[in-house]
Amino acid sequence: SKTIMWFRKDLRLDDNTALNKMIEDSEVTDELICLFQLNPLQFIENSYNHDAFFQSLGTFYEHAKTNNIGLHFVYGDVEENFTALKKTYPDWNKIYFNKDERGFGRERDQKMITFFENHQIQVHSFQDSHLHGVQEIKKPNGESYKVFTPYFRKWLTMPKRPYERTKNKNRSFAKLTHPLFKEGEKQFRQIIENIELPFDYESGEAAAEECLKEFIKNHLHEYQKMRDFPSSDQTSKLSKFLRTGELSIRKVWHALNAEPDSDGRQTFISELCWRDFYNMIYYENPKQKTQEIKEQYRQLSWSYNQEFFERWKNGQTGFPIVDAGMRQLNQTGWMHNRLRMIVASFLTKDLMIDWQMGERYFQEKLIDYDAASNIGGWQWAASTGTDAVPYFRIFNPTTQGEKFDPQGEFIRQFVPELKDFPNKYIHEPSKMPADIQQSIDVSIGKEYPTQIVDHSKIRAEILTFFKESSS
Ligand code: FAD
Repeated sequence: SKTIMWFRKDLRLDDNTALNKMIEDSEVTDELICLFQLNPLQFIENSYNHDAFFQSLGTFYEHAKTNNIGLHFVYGDVEENFTALKKTYPDWNKIYFNKDERGFGRERDQKMITFFENHQIQVHSFQDSHLHGVQEIKKPNGESYKVFTPYFRKWLTMPKRPYERTKNKNRSFAKLTHPLFKEGEKQFRQIIENIELPFDYESGEAAAEECLKEFIKNHLHEYQKMRDFPSSDQTSKLSKFLRTGELSIRKVWHALNAEPDSDGRQTFISELCWRDFYNMIYYENPKQKTQEIKEQYRQLSWSYNQEFFERWKNGQTGFPIVDAGMRQLNQTGWMHNRLRMIVASFLTKDLMIDWQMGERYFQEKLIDYDAASNIGGWQWAASTGTDAVPYFRIFNPTTQGEKFDPQGEFIRQFVPELKDFPNKYIHEPSKMPADIQQSIDVSIGKEYPTQIVDHSKIRAEILTFFKESSS
């Protein structure tokens, strides 16, 4: 009989729960088939997000091939694809996959589980992507947490599943021919040929492992001290590997456990918990991509000023730390966490633009896009989410710059117009006297824009904005 392993955001052979279980459960006579379903409904064409994911998929395809695993592709409507496969292969009677617990993937999985059951295909699905699944961490009364700190306390006490090497990845896997697979492979190749990432993008299990090792060796124990300074670039950069599943989260946990304790290690662990927390919050609030979690803020009269939005996107707001962050995103597909908070706060509080516009822009640009973390981060910044920053605490983009990029090194890297500005004016270039501007050939308002808003007036406006809308 035939068994299918359905890959999705778990592009690895190592410690892959569903793959491990399939190998473990199978008889030597079973035909094991590895499959990836290309669903155009999930494509965000012409985006870094899309291209990065498919580059990782391409690397995985090659990696699987060198382990004698032929990855099959099917393209189109998921139900039509599986109906056709069942028709051609009536002896296909088991499917394994790592389930998606929230968002689009969750709905697809629920629909497909019913389909498989109606077609006498046994379903074996597993929580693989997070240290704890969406239903695992509950209050003593069985309710879900809404606030991070008590969730984290409970999370720390819960045992974590061990990291398990895939036992026999050299076992023989089937290579089938079917017109659907032929078409799927053609579509896959076309996507790969059209990848146009304008920056280096490392992919694959080996690169992920290397990244983890390098971070632990050189930066983990200093993480708490250094993580907020974008110019020092000492965060792990693991997000893109966790998003594609090229790195097992249990492997990360296992590696952390082998380390002596330190403030850095503890802070890093709390970040992994945020990832689980937002995943759970998205599960609990399935509409949160297009709806504020806090009910009282669903009627806020957000701005849709296109000109301001364009200036924010292009890093032309006149606030150097905001512009440097946005340009880092546009040029590299990644942005430092401190800057994500600053630019999201700036869009929603200083420009009062709908957080959903920012969320969607990040969705296109981020190579580590994860719906739960991104929506969670945006609703946190907009003060509309659960456990979000209160609306009266407004980031000051100038003092944030002074605090987290004191010498302006990061700003100079991404806003080269300001590279000759003295430290004294790097965070407020418009304050630089005209004669000095002339001497370095940069005039504010020409080479670099004047500030798009007067931040000193924002506080009063935001207080009214939130109070009026929620009264
Ligand atoms: P590190 O600082 O090394 O953290 C280690 C890991 O912990 C990360 O890889 C990530 O998996 C997890 N983590 C860290 N901070 C958070 C957090 N606040 N929420 C959830 N998980 C976290 N993260 C994404 O993975 N995808 C996104 O689309 C995303 N969008 C965001 C949008 C906004 C507005 C904000 C404020 C944050 C967003 N984050 C997102 C969280 C965080 O910025 C990134 O996870 C982090 O910058 C990735 O870099 P790193 O791997 O070097 O992080």
